[in-house]
This record gives sequence, structure tokens and C-alpha cells, in this order.
Amino acid sequence: MSDCLKLANLLFPDIHETPEELMEKTFPARNLKQGAAVTRFAPSPTGFLHIGGVFASMAAERTAHLSDGVCILRIEDTDKKREMDDGVSIIVNGLADFGIRFDEGVHADGSESGDYGPYTQSKRRYPYHVFCKALVEKGLAYPCFCTAERLSEIRAEQEKNNVTPGYWGEYTEQCRNRSIEEIEELIKQGVPYVVRVKSPGKVGGRVKFRDIIRGDIEMEENFVDVVLLKSDGIPTYHFAHIVDDTLMRVTHVTRGEEWIASAPIHLQLFWLCGLKAPKYAHVPSIMKEDGGGKRKLSKRKDPEAAVSYFVEEGYPADAVMEYLLTIANSNFEDWRRQNKTAHYTTFPFALNKMSPSGALFDLAKLQSVSGTVISLMTAEQVLESVLAWAERYDKQLYDVLSADKQKALSIFSVDRGGNKPRKDIAKWNEVRAYISYFYDELREQSGEVLEIAAADQKAIIEKYLTVYSPDHDKDTWFATIKGMCEGLGFCPDVKQYKADPTGFKGHVGDVSSVIRVAVTGRKNTPDLHAVMTIMGKETVCARLNEYLERI
Ligand code: GLU
Repeated sequence: MSDCLKLANLLFPDIHETPEELMEKTFPARNLKQGAAVTRFAPSPTGFLHIGGVFASMAAERTAHLSDGVCILRIEDTDKKREMDDGVSIIVNGLADFGIRFDEGVHADGSESGDYGPYTQSKRRYPYHVFCKALVEKGLAYPCFCTAERLSEIRAEQEKNNVTPGYWGEYTEQCRNRSIEEIEELIKQGVPYVVRVKSPGKVGGRVKFRDIIRGDIEMEENFVDVVLLKSDGIPTYHFAHIVDDTLMRVTHVTRGEEWIASAPIHLQLFWLCGLKAPKYAHVPSIMKEDGGGKRKLSKRKDPEAAVSYFVEEGYPADAVMEYLLTIANSNFEDWRRQNKTAHYTTFPFALNKMSPSGALFDLAKLQSVSGTVISLMTAEQVLESVLAWAERYDKQLYDVLSADKQKALSIFSVDRGGNKPRKDIAKWNEVRAYISYFYDELREQSGEVLEIAAADQKAIIEKYLTVYSPDHDKDTWFATIKGMCEGLGFCPDVKQYKADPTGFKGHVGDVSSVIRVAVTGRKNTPDLHAVMTIMGKETVCARLNEYLERI
């Protein structure tokens, strides 16, 4: 028996399968149509879902589903220090809130579905050990017994001598060259060890690869003997990702651009394992403008880095996704103009149309996209979404709206539909202010002041109280207001007034402004006739009388 084989059996006595056998028996090639992409989103369960995570998972999800492929949610929990109790459910539910759908993988309660699992790395010890054993057997990996002290000594020495840091070159010699007997003895004594790859890379060696988003990349090749398995037998991210993406038959790795630096390690590991690497697409980070420059959206500094921000503010999930698509593919907005009502999932998203230079996140633009998305919803959809949001974040609004859903629907129906729907609401936490004047419970004192003499306003309201009828249709309602004008010294025709205002105090628009402010407290509202119809006679008259007392 060769020493390598002996070593492999010593380190992995319980492993009797080869990677090839494992792939054939347990993780066979998928039966998908030509061109179907298998992608994955692979977060660590830190309990924090960054908007950049939604961006990257959207890229994975769209790529898979637009090609009739498969999108996997894998939990990468090899770093126990970063793990949080609800870490998985917060991320899974967070993604579900944004309509990101996975075909296989981990669910919010930690359960899993799919034939290529387990999808939680801490449950995949066996396959990692199968692949690691094969590398040891081929003489491409070895146990390293260096202590933490030894490693910091190496680091200090390298720093002192201005040498590239890392476990490479002469520093690897002792552990690379131990005899099998020596290793056996150390293991018998219980000395902890990690398994490292025997990197064939050279200082100054180059590696080239193609990134779908960035095109051809050339970097220094890896020459460090990186750790594959830690001393507890758990893999590092580098090794776990090679094994997982291979066994899960992932075709496209979409991951954050911070991983580009490690790509040479990964490509070398695929090569040493005799595997074909998947295609890589390193997704740009979400950036923010700050003091004239750009910087990464920061978990610490920017509330909008957390997806919970968008949920709490009440941006509809579709609006956030639409917005992310506008920064993902610059042709999205053109497509949207040509396909006004199509769902965003029908947009032909393409990884290779993503800009590599960082996606600039602009809340004002999101606000505008969201206003459009909401303006195209039906009143029923608006009410349903507002109720779902308000139940969690504004109990009083929830109670008021659910007490009379018909009234709420009529309010959301005003100026909805048609060619130019109003875009007053961009997020659900703006609804309270938008509709408050319809409800005594929600009304706030108006700060709106009109530049019309108090006496004239009084005269307008007094007159209006004598002619107002809740039964008037829109035309009669307007004709009635026009009809009041002359007697009050206002011009019934705006154009005529503009041509020659002499002799008038104002025009019919000013008269209706007084009525609008009296009834709603606002200078700007949707169609006033519709508003007054919803309010009903009692409320309208009460508001008009109240205004009379106030001015
Ligand atoms: N688990 C890695 C992270 O949370 C993901 C890297 C990958 O997608 O391959 O950053």
C-alpha cells in the first residue's frame, strides 16, 4: 500500500466511497433541458439579510427560472462564530417576503426539500470527507499539526521579512514531509491537526478565468496550502463550496464580488479534484453616494442596508425587486416603458448585462419606482397590502381600515386606473397621511393656509352650505360651485380670469380650493367630488361648519 493511501485510510477510516461513486450514486447529473442553469444562494445564517443579498439571490433566482433551471438555497454554517439563533428563518423569510422562490434547499424552520441535500453544510460532513480523502490519497493534501502559536510565529516572521503572508513555501516543509509513522504517532497522542491542500502554485504564477459579469480576469495563482478541513473535521468555505457546487450540479455560481480574491484558490481546488469548475458571476456590491464619492452600503451606517428596513417602511416587495432590476440590467427601464403592465419576472434578465462597477443604490429612485408600481395596483391589491403591513406596523390604521373595508376600497379607488393614475403613495407608511382626512380618528390639524381673505373664505363656505347636495354627480357638483362664483366676486372661468383678472377676487379654482381645504385640510387631494362622496353629507357639513368657526 502506498504511503498516501495509508495516510488517507488513517485520516478517514470510515470513508469507503470515492467522489466518482458518490456522484454517480447519490448526486447524479440532473435531467434538465439544454441550457437550464442550476444556481444557488448560499448565505451564512447570521440573521442579517443585506439588500446586497437580495440582489445576489435575485440574480441567481432569475438566472435559474428564466432558463427552466433550478435555484437552491444552501445554508453555509461552517463558521459557528457567525451563526445566530434565528439566523436561518430570518434569511429564508426575508427572501420569501421579496418573492424569491427556491426549488430546493432549506426552509424557514430548518427543514429541507430536494434530492441533492442535505443543504446545510454542517450536515454534509460525509461528502466533504469523501473528497478530502481522495485528495490525500493522490498526495494532494496532508495533515498539518502546526499550532496557533506556530502560525503566528510564521506570520510575524513573514511580516518582519516583508514576505507574502500565508502558509506556503519553506513554512510548509515540516508538515508536508512528515513520515506516515510520525503522523500516526501524533494522531495517537491526540495532537490536533487540520488538512491542507498541497498547492502546486508558484509565486508569480498566473491564473486566468472568465467571469460572466466582468469578462476575462487574470490574477496571481494560489500558492498557499489553504486549509480544507479544520481540526474538528468541518470544511472551510473554500473546500465546502467546491464539493457542494459539484454535488448539487450547480452550473453558475453567482456570489458577491468580495469572493473574486479567493477565486484562484477555488479554481485550483476544482482542478486538483479533477472537476470542472462552474461558471462564475461575481455580483457587484450595492453602493451608496456619500460626500461626492461612492462607498459600499454598510450594515453599520445605513439603515437601508437591511432588508427589514424596506419591509418596515412598507415598500411593496415587487417595487423593491423592480428597482433592483433597474440597477442590475440597464435595459430594464426601456423594457418597462415598452411593457408597462408586465410582471418583472417576464423581463429577460441576463447576468452578462450586469455592470461590474458597483450598483448605485438611490432611495429617491426606489421611491419613484415604487410610486409607479403602487399606482398600477387595483384598489383591492392596495387595501390587502396596506392591511398586511398595518397589522404589524400601524395597529390604529389597521383597525380603522378594517372596520369599513368598503369605505377603504372607495378611498383607494379615487383616481386609480386610467392612463394617468396618481402616484401619491410610494410605501405603505405613507398611507396614513394620505387618507387621514377621511377618518376623524386619524385626522391631524391642518397647517394649510390659503392666500384668500378670511372674510371671502367665510362667504364661500356659508354660500356653499346652502347649495351643497351629496346627490350631485360630478358635473352638477362643479356647475354648482361655478354658479356660486359671481355672487361672491370670483370669476367662474379660469381662462377668462387669466386673460383679465380686473374686478375679480379670484377664480373658480380658488373657490374650490377653499372648499377643499375646509373639507380635507389639504390644498392637494385626489378628485374632490369623489372624496366628498366617500365622506358623506354628515362629515362634509361638519367639516365645513368647523372651518367656519376656525377662520
Ligand atoms: N456563504 C458565503 C457568504 O455568506 C456565500 C459565498 C457563495 O455564495 O459562494 O458570503
